[in-house]
Amino acid sequence: MLAGVRHVVLDMDGTLYRGGTLFPFTRPFLAQLRPLGIGYTFLTNNSSRSSADYLAHLARLDIATDPAQLHTSANATVDWLRAHRPGVRRLFALCTPSLAAELRAAGYELTADDPADAPDAVLVAFDTTLDYARLCRTAHWIAHGLPYFATHPDHICPTDEPTVLVDCGSICAALGKATGRAPDRVFGKPDPEMLTGIRRRHQLAAREIAMVGDRIYTDMAMARAAGCVSVLVLSGEATADDARRAGTAPDFVLTDIGELGLLLQASRSGD
Ligand SMILES: [Mg+2]
Repeated sequence: MLAGVRHVVLDMDGTLYRGGTLFPFTRPFLAQLRPLGIGYTFLTNNSSRSSADYLAHLARLDIATDPAQLHTSANATVDWLRAHRPGVRRLFALCTPSLAAELRAAGYELTADDPADAPDAVLVAFDTTLDYARLCRTAHWIAHGLPYFATHPDHICPTDEPTVLVDCGSICAALGKATGRAPDRVFGKPDPEMLTGIRRRHQLAAREIAMVGDRIYTDMAMARAAGCVSVLVLSGEATADDARRAGTAPDFVLTDIGELGLLLQASRSGD
């Protein structure tokens, strides 16, 4: 199965690093891919940072990354809106200034927190700068029936700090209580559209892509829905017990991406 893999899609936290600490096997693994003729893309649901912020974060970890090698839930959102809702030009976005800048750069006009400044649609992201008045304005537009989208479904964002990071899905839950509406569409993992975009970009068949991640209900569920090879690594959230209990077993359950590197190497040398 691995002999046919031409591209690996890598979840970030729990797969490449934990918090700010890069796993010791990550750089050797990435260096190994190019000589094997295998490409890679980093994938994240976290929409609190723009692509530019992520590239800077990866550079601090000494991983040089091309913008085309990064795919965030915000990228998936913009790709889908462009393809399926070309009439949406003005957004009321509940998001960080970092993502707001990225949305503007993608050609969207962001409307003000003003009932006279009606948007075409509402977008909710992981807003770590959440402001009560803007939350209420978001509910106002949702209650008025405007198209309503969310970048990703995560309820919390993992952290080593003594706090709970209330994520996009929980903000949408609050808006749901207030308005009776769920988002019309939620992007990010486990939506297989995240992988479809990467497939299209590189013109690959589903089974030529291996999705590698540490969460069964997002990373592995998405790999299955997209028809890609699924590789669960036990360096993050899921344990070997979780993998055994999973309704559908991933194609591979490995200790970490270091082990995946060895298997990919072996698949190329005919072992
Ligand atoms: Mg992860």
